[in-house]
Amino acid sequence: MNIEPIDYRTAAARLLAERPDIREAITRATLAKEDRRREGYADIDSEAWRDWASRLRRHVLANLDYYLEQAGRALEANGIRVHWAEDAQATCATVLSLCHERGVRRVVKGKSMLSEEIELNPALEAAGIEVTETDLGEYLIQLAGERPSHIIGPAYHKPLSESQALFAERLGTPAGAEPSALAAAARKHLRQRFLAADMMITGANAIAADTGTIALVENEGNIRIGTTTARIHVACVGIEKLVPRLTDLGTLLPLLSRAATGQRLGNYVSLISGPRGAEPEGPDEVHVIFVDNGRSRLLADPPAASTLACIRCGACLNACPVFRQTGGHPYQWAYSGPIGAVLAPGLLGLERGWTLAQASTLCGACDAACPVRIPLSGLLRLWRERAAQAGLEAPGEAPAIRAYARLARRPHRFHMATRLLGRFAPWFGPLVPPLSRWLRGRTLPLRNRNR
Ligand code: SF4
Repeated sequence: MNIEPIDYRTAAARLLAERPDIREAITRATLAKEDRRREGYADIDSEAWRDWASRLRRHVLANLDYYLEQAGRALEANGIRVHWAEDAQATCATVLSLCHERGVRRVVKGKSMLSEEIELNPALEAAGIEVTETDLGEYLIQLAGERPSHIIGPAYHKPLSESQALFAERLGTPAGAEPSALAAAARKHLRQRFLAADMMITGANAIAADTGTIALVENEGNIRIGTTTARIHVACVGIEKLVPRLTDLGTLLPLLSRAATGQRLGNYVSLISGPRGAEPEGPDEVHVIFVDNGRSRLLADPPAASTLACIRCGACLNACPVFRQTGGHPYQWAYSGPIGAVLAPGLLGLERGWTLAQASTLCGACDAACPVRIPLSGLLRLWRERAAQAGLEAPGEAPAIRAYARLARRPHRFHMATRLLGRFAPWFGPLVPPLSRWLRGRTLPLRNRNR
């Protein structure tokens, strides 16, 4: 079967032609978060924290079978039902059968990229179940009929004026309402949904294998409400999202929060260790669905397996100068930015995902941001090499790289060539197609032009 690669380049060009304002909205949001991350790292010994987190996540991946078994036993001992799903279809089928068996008509959700990955919302809606996203950004995106464009900030690409117009149309807020008024309108509307919901679906930031505890970090309190009011809580969790001990969360969650938003810790941390017992509130049933969906295959590929250490903080997206131009939509699947570019060939397959690994300057900004030290630029190169070995590289790329390599090995000629290029490219560059495309968005260094 011929698998079509994701056409990032065309999608990015189309998006920027149709919505030139997206670049500014994404740039402003991601640069602000990048500043916060730096401040968050600056006030701890971040190198030591990142070393620790990197070791922890690699230890879990190296012993994943052991920790999954331990977590499964501990969760069941707490009264939490554990399910195992091989792929997206099996996960959706498990959620749907829980809904059918228990007469669930209304579902509320806390932000979960895994549910985007497996396309859970369309599966529930096709079965006639009403689904409401309860994270404010995610709710906004659902009202707009779009997909999230960032792991942490699903609506980063939306200028305020667009959100104001959308809320005025859908929720009747006054034109040009302040953000606080938009949030109040969403809160009022969502309260009704929370009270009417039969089931809350979440992901998990981590599951502690020793105690069978589901950890969820958030800023808005929507997950706290939904997991308290709905009679059933279902957590769809990637098999890699484990920590050995509950006490590991004491360092991992603050590091995650610092990397994501610069906060010392998200506003709400929920540690869920079972259904309601004698308490007056809480769910009657809690279910965890451990989802594989390609992760075992990626784990069995040692050069690429460290991708699974990701804790979905979004810091690499904020640091990435390529992501900043468009946001996540041109990546055309749940995960975007550097982590999306290395997960795509790993989880979707090389033939479908290789093009995303090209969407990078290999500047290494993502490596410097990642709290668990995933070698993102090395993984981008790995997938590029594999694509080239499989004959999948862009036309003309191999001869161009060979010519560059020959030149770069001779410093004298290299400097002469760059000097000549800097001097004459402004005149002949626009006439030579690959160079003209390259020069459309760049200026050559003045140093070379003036020598
Ligand atoms: S790869 Fe690292 S920086 Fe990017 S989302 Fe994952 S943990 Fe965060």
